[in-house]
Amino acid sequence: MKVLKFGGSSVADATNMSRVIDIVTSEAAADRVILVSSAISGCTDRLLEIGEGRVELIDGLQQRHNEIIKRLFTGKEREEAMEECASVFSLIRGCRHCIESYGEILSTKILARKLSCDGYSARWVDSRELIIKDNPGQTYANISKCINACDERIIVAPGFIASDAEGNITTLGRGGSDFSAALFAAAVGASILEIWTDVPGIMTANPKDVQKAETIPFLSYEAAWRLAEHGAKVLYPPTVEPAKSSGIGINVKNTFDSKNPGTLIEDKASPSVWTGITGSGDTLCLVADHPFDTTETDSKIQAALQHCCIDEPEIAHGEGFVTVKVPDGMGKEALKALHKEFFEIEESNTRNLYIAGKGAVGTALREMIEKTAVSIKAGSGKVLRIIEQVDSKSPDFCEKIIKAAPKNAIFVDVTDSEDIYRWYKPLLEAGISIVSSNRRSLSVPYCEYAEMKKAALLSGCFLRYETTVGAALPILESIALSANSNDEITSIEAVVSCTLNYILSSGLPFADALQKAQSIGLTEKDPSQDLEGRDALRKLLILAREAGVHLDEKDVDIEPVKDFESIRPDQRFVASLVKDETKALGYRASIRMQTVDERHPAYWLQGTDNAIIVRSAYHPSPLVIQGAGEGARQAASSVLNDILK
Ligand code: ASP
Ligand code: MG
Repeated sequence: MKVLKFGGSSVADATNMSRVIDIVTSEAAADRVILVSSAISGCTDRLLEIGEGRVELIDGLQQRHNEIIKRLFTGKEREEAMEECASVFSLIRGCRHCIESYGEILSTKILARKLSCDGYSARWVDSRELIIKDNPGQTYANISKCINACDERIIVAPGFIASDAEGNITTLGRGGSDFSAALFAAAVGASILEIWTDVPGIMTANPKDVQKAETIPFLSYEAAWRLAEHGAKVLYPPTVEPAKSSGIGINVKNTFDSKNPGTLIEDKASPSVWTGITGSGDTLCLVADHPFDTTETDSKIQAALQHCCIDEPEIAHGEGFVTVKVPDGMGKEALKALHKEFFEIEESNTRNLYIAGKGAVGTALREMIEKTAVSIKAGSGKVLRIIEQVDSKSPDFCEKIIKAAPKNAIFVDVTDSEDIYRWYKPLLEAGISIVSSNRRSLSVPYCEYAEMKKAALLSGCFLRYETTVGAALPILESIALSANSNDEITSIEAVVSCTLNYILSSGLPFADALQKAQSIGLTEKDPSQDLEGRDALRKLLILAREAGVHLDEKDVDIEPVKDFESIRPDQRFVASLVKDETKALGYRASIRMQTVDERHPAYWLQGTDNAIIVRSAYHPSPLVIQGAGEGARQAASSVLNDILK
């Protein structure tokens, strides 16, 4: 069950109400829905004024509701809706107590009737009977009993209104419909609480005051509460508690841009330290979602405010926030200056990351980014944003990214999927760069590889895959540098099978060594891929292509390791590419066991280390790159380097 709450501007007129009906009915196709709505915009204020004696406003308000009814209904249905509306207005005219409670009755009765007339299974329930102010226990019991007793697909409930302990009608406070929705959500254990409003989520500042305000994609319950408590109008502060204590996520979304993911509030901190800034009058409040350095923060605030000639702002620290008091009349300007300092980053400096793969490398990468994003921003000005991370089995991910095609987007492939590479070309053509640790994607037939390279060249996006050979070792870059500077590579010897290097240097009997290699996650899922040289082949193809040789699988002589028991410690499994004019490509390529002597760099290899030995016209005594050739952390750091290069 989902709870969807719509604010006053979302139901302001017939067009908007129709939009709400569309959103609700499409969600109701998948799950039962409780629809909670505010009164139509401005209605509560009008009712309060009427209550204070301005009875002349009643007709105008009734007119607005009639207008909506006329546009939504025809014939007999219209007549009935008009009658219902008129009967509520006669109550309003005679009302002595809590006149403002009728706005939500009006809006929700219209919505519920429209749903039923359109053939949906819908029922209106009376929040005044269900919600008992300041008594959550009773409220939850009432709501769950009521919802269990109905079998309609869509339940429509007025927000804002309730009863007090004595049974009198009351309200939950201005903006209280959000809270009503949270109570419904907690009572039924909803899968999500969606707060639909007229801005794209909770933003770094009120977009009416700061043009460059941006949506905060994720934040914790605490930070959301602090923002609301310090004046962010988009969410009524008491809403957070019921959702938080029942572990229900709150998704703040825009009714007028329903595809926009908005803000998700969960039990998880946002990736950045600062989430937003609020301002009321001369007091501003910066809200954090992580611990922050107070001295550094104060000097940033002072420096930013000096630009608008505010010399001595009063700064005070609280848990998770900083308040700044500025001289009278300077609030708006100070808000803009602080927003600029804390939240506006050059678009060209952001990297929007879409990560495919949630295995060891994907997890390590995410943790690394979460830990280092702040210092990366401080050091290089670059802002890393993980927009989404999915596992390798998510079929529509790439399609979705292409459709969204944001600026500075990078698709990060940390899967070991065989066919994900088919997306590389369309992604690049859509202007999305790629960083990959998936060597299967780059060892596809040369013609397909060349297509991907060409797409990158034409679109001006990058395709980086340093991690595919030797994890974090800077191997491909070195080879590309040699090749690009017209240095003629005479040979590449790559001792790059972590599994085989490990087995050969372990000193253990083969079967035991292999089992160990498997248990520490070294081997491919199917270890014969390593033993038969498949994995080394992929690496050799990538290396050769980097050197400008159009190598394909058929050009490589592979001698799988056969007789493991008789292998000697001076043998190594070597993938090599050697200049040979007799061959069509100008090079001979092979993968096989070789005996190496003490002068050979690979002789000394230990554990899972990799070595790569490049000889060229400029480097007759070889260039040797050697070191840890595997590990999720190494791979993740190499991927991160490719992202930041
Ligand atoms: N209609 C009420 C108000 O204007 C409650 C709400 O919209 O959340 O305060
Ligand atoms: Mg509101």
